[in-house]
Amino acid sequence: MIRFDLTCTNDHSFDSWFRSGADCNALLDKGLVSCTTCGSTEVRKALMAPKVSTSDKTSITAPKAPDATPLERLKKEIEATADDVGRNFATEARDMHAGITPERPIYGQATGAEAKQLLSDGVPVLPLPFVPTKKTH
Ligand SMILES: [Zn+2]
Repeated sequence: MIRFDLTCTNDHSFDSWFRSGADCNALLDKGLVSCTTCGSTEVRKALMAPKVSTSDKTSITAPKAPDATPLERLKKEIEATADDVGRNFATEARDMHAGITPERPIYGQATGAEAKQLLSDGVPVLPLPFVPTKKTH
């Protein structure tokens, strides 16, 4: 489920949950989303970036660890939920995109050329804003 911030032609903002970004676009196109304040169906997305259901609110209002920057938290989260595939990143990402292996969150290293090739092949990859901790297996 993805939450989108929406806004109507009368500048009312509200949010709504959708199964996916594509689902949201389809419903907006068909005029099936109406403003919670005035009922207008002239509604569009207020932000480009969707908010995924995480506990980001609690981490903003109650910063428990003062030494953990948002970046460090992101890093911890990625390292906790995604597989470190190391130098196999380009191969793993490509196999997943092709449906050869089941999709799962991964991170690892790719050369600039590999990353460019993945992107030009339509494989969605993002550079990490940090260097992952080396795991010893
Ligand atoms: Zn409205």
